[in-house]
Amino acid sequence: MQYDVIIGLEVHAELKTKSKCFCSCKNEYGSSPNTNCCPVCVGLPGALPVLNKFAVEQTIKAGLALGFEINRTAIFERKNYFYPDLSKAYQISQLEKPICINGHLRVFDKDIPINRIHLEEDAGKLVHSGSETFVDYNRGGVPLIELVTDALKEPHMESADEAIEFLTKLRQIYIYAGVADCELEKGQMRADVNISLRPKGSKEFGTKVEMKNLMGFKSIHAAIKYEIARQKEILDDGGKIEQETRKWDFDKGESFAMRSKENAEDYRYFPDPDLLAVEISDEDVARLKKSLPPLPDEIKKKYMSEYGLSEYDTDVILADKEIADFYEACLALYPQPKSIANWFTTEVLARVKGGAGLGISKENLVWLIKAVDEKKIQRLSAKEFLADIWGTDVNAESEAKARGIMADLSSDFVFEILDKVLKEKSSVVEQFKREKDEKILNFLVGQVMKETRGKANAQEVKEKLKEKLGI
Ligand code: ADP
Ligand code: MG
Ligand code: ZN
Repeated sequence: MQYDVIIGLEVHAELKTKSKCFCSCKNEYGSSPNTNCCPVCVGLPGALPVLNKFAVEQTIKAGLALGFEINRTAIFERKNYFYPDLSKAYQISQLEKPICINGHLRVFDKDIPINRIHLEEDAGKLVHSGSETFVDYNRGGVPLIELVTDALKEPHMESADEAIEFLTKLRQIYIYAGVADCELEKGQMRADVNISLRPKGSKEFGTKVEMKNLMGFKSIHAAIKYEIARQKEILDDGGKIEQETRKWDFDKGESFAMRSKENAEDYRYFPDPDLLAVEISDEDVARLKKSLPPLPDEIKKKYMSEYGLSEYDTDVILADKEIADFYEACLALYPQPKSIANWFTTEVLARVKGGAGLGISKENLVWLIKAVDEKKIQRLSAKEFLADIWGTDVNAESEAKARGIMADLSSDFVFEILDKVLKEKSSVVEQFKREKDEKILNFLVGQVMKETRGKANAQEVKEKLKEKLGI
């Protein structure tokens, strides 16, 4: 049987703030366990939360970057449940009146509808060690935004590829907007994936299965494919899908049932009596909108229309904000967008992706690119040279001079060698005169290049050679 797949995403991202959401403890990854904690974030009786205004502003900015409406009054609620990583046995979250509502995100050619972004606090972390489990509450109370797509509205997300594209773009927007770092390996961005199938063409929604707390785009992609196949098989066999929460086992490449799904009612949400409603003014929204830095779509337009870059090159450069920022910094020194982009999409990215880091200063890189553009260094030697100086702090210009890789294009120098080669290879020259074969010409150019040890410009040598041979 043929089925339509419907995917809903709930995406959590830890906000970039100095302090936690409701206390002044540091929001910092990697501190020693239980050092960034206080009575408020571990929930000692009587401790009172104080809302971090900046966390609210970051949430609003996230919403504005995605075209959401901003509620002028937002409410914090308690979501009650017990788990060892949640010492106060409730999480401060938002249910009825989240900060952002009704957004969308373009995924390939679809505008995927999004219900909401709300602000809540993260829970602590369980650390498993052998047969023991420890709790680290440093993460407890860290501001977290949760975005929920509206899977029941069209157009639907329907495949693992679309879901990954959604997450990739979302992550990029959060990073560019400066609201979250979204480092996946640090768990700063996590997703719950909801999936249902229904017979092709049917209007009724199928039962959804939720997979919780997936980290890393590879697992998410694999988990979605697995779940679609699993449901298909059950439905094909005439079975029924259980509404449940499943856990993805990355190593085994399969999921298993965790628990039957709880409903919002199970959490006994109620407005947190310790926190006032948040009032957001038009002025706040206007100010925050103005403070948003340029976002990927806008930068993309500029790169393509103003800089004349291809869509591919643009996407490759913008995919990593650190690279994009570095590109702009180089451009400020040497306004040749295409020339610099060529080096970025090849040499620079290959090294960064290979794990070598951004091991070059903008001054050195620009000097080298310019030297190649001005034909002072052959492209090939420049590439080798770049590999050599990557990760060092030499001065490119003096190093290149010291190594003698700068081209010497003074005509005397090249003419001398040209004459020498023509004399030595006189039989080849005769052959060329008879056969007029481009290959033979290229062979002669190669000989000259060899003699100059790559310091001349092949194109110019060819021109001069043609001149000499009277063509
Ligand atoms: P819950 O309370 O179970 O978490 P929500 O209503 O919050 O459910 O929805 C969670 C996510 O699942 C949302 O993105 C929502 O759009 C999506 N969703 C709801 N119904 C379905 C369905 N039948 N198939 C796929 N996704 C769904
Ligand atoms: Mg949910
Ligand atoms: Zn605290």
